[in-house]
Amino acid sequence: MSTTKEILSNLKERNPGESEFHQAVEEVLLSLEPVLAKNPHYLNTGILERLVEPERQIIFRVPWVDDHGNVQVNRGFRIQFNSAIGPYKGGLRFHPSVYLGIIKFLGFEQIFKNSLTGLPIGGGKGGSDFDPKGKSDGEIMRFCQSFMTELYKHVGPDIDVPAGDIGVGGREIGYLFGQYKRIKNGYQGGVLTGKGLSYGGSLGRKEATGYGLIYFIKEMLRVNNYTLTGKTITISGSGNVAIHACEKAQQNGAKVIAMCDSKGYIYDENGINLDTIKQIKEIERKRISEYIKYHPKAKYNEGQKGIWSVKCDIALPCATQNDIHLEHAKQLINNGVQVIGEGANMPCTNEALKFFLEKGILVAPSKAANAGGVSVSALEMSQNSMRLSWDFEKVDEKLQNIMINIFKASDNAAKEYGMEGNYIAGANIAGFLRVANAMLEQGVV
Ligand code: NDP
Repeated sequence: MSTTKEILSNLKERNPGESEFHQAVEEVLLSLEPVLAKNPHYLNTGILERLVEPERQIIFRVPWVDDHGNVQVNRGFRIQFNSAIGPYKGGLRFHPSVYLGIIKFLGFEQIFKNSLTGLPIGGGKGGSDFDPKGKSDGEIMRFCQSFMTELYKHVGPDIDVPAGDIGVGGREIGYLFGQYKRIKNGYQGGVLTGKGLSYGGSLGRKEATGYGLIYFIKEMLRVNNYTLTGKTITISGSGNVAIHACEKAQQNGAKVIAMCDSKGYIYDENGINLDTIKQIKEIERKRISEYIKYHPKAKYNEGQKGIWSVKCDIALPCATQNDIHLEHAKQLINNGVQVIGEGANMPCTNEALKFFLEKGILVAPSKAANAGGVSVSALEMSQNSMRLSWDFEKVDEKLQNIMINIFKASDNAAKEYGMEGNYIAGANIAGFLRVANAMLEQGVV
């Protein structure tokens, strides 16, 4: 029987150089210590050793031809991490920074997130070091077709169901689905989620992660006698999650004053005009710096990290991992931040999270707070199985209930283990217990 510290040190030795994966596992295992102390049978049965080792890791070559006739080669990944409670489920990320350590951290987090939703979905994640920026539609299509020509062997509606993530939106899912359908010679809509509405997608999926983040935060604030109305918010990122978090926050009477992309951030003291952001990012696919052409009174600053120096009540990191380091956490607190809502996966370093908790800041942790996307993905799978489509209001109502239930589960688990208000630990514990119990009941597999 190993202790959590031994499991961690063994993990680092067996997975060298995968710092994001180490970070994600460390954060979870340390928060589980009170549970393991009360329930040593999870340690005696090797649950943790099995939980940190993916069930299957697939790495493959993705060759494709660019618009100039040159052959390009990228690397594709799919990590099928844990299927104790359902088929593997998790997005695909296309970004030049992708390597095994990123996909493993995302896949590991996905196990707990999916468990928290209460829905029957296991944890997985995939992607490629392909950079979609600056590529033509034809290049994106040829890349996606090549990627799926290998991936199709490993996925299926009851096996593994990918979706989008950074760099993978509706356009990419469409090309991936088209190729899967062609190869399989059959219409298995439930193999991918985030599909277009004309071919099996769900209303509300596009909005789900950002809206879900705000639904979770609203419930957290309600319990803590705080409200969104009239608060100033900064949001990192200007992609799918950031845009829809901004939309729902504005609908709730908050004022979003800053957003960014990977090059820089905009500050608009009158409140961000979201229609302009959508025009720049979703239609023109240009840099956020374009914003000041439409709104000359707004300011643009080079350097994405500068966004954390903007004074705000609530900060929503919705771009990528390790966006907020300890120094940014200190800056935010000095400027009076009260609430952190993690829209991205692991956007705060472990040191930053610890500091926020020490200072009494309310933190909505990513595994719980951004689970809205995968929840509506699971609802998309249900609709595909039943061969029907629900209207937006029905999906949105289900999403709200799921996010409130995720908050309650995290809150209750934190209270049960003597960490009231620590929703980070609460989410880890609640997510862990469901998966661990399923693993116990299924024997050593
Ligand atoms: P998008 O690709 O739509 O947008 C990503 C945004 O983050 C862009 O504004 C991008 O800027 C910025 N960004 C990406 N990488 C970096 C970086 N290295 N430094 C600074 N900014 C960066 O992705 P999503 O909105 O879908 O995903 C955002 C986060 O939310 C990710 O962590 C993802 O894992 C997580 N998430 C997404 C879900 C979903 O349903 N889409 C579900 C749950 C979590 P630029 O355009 O300049 O690259």
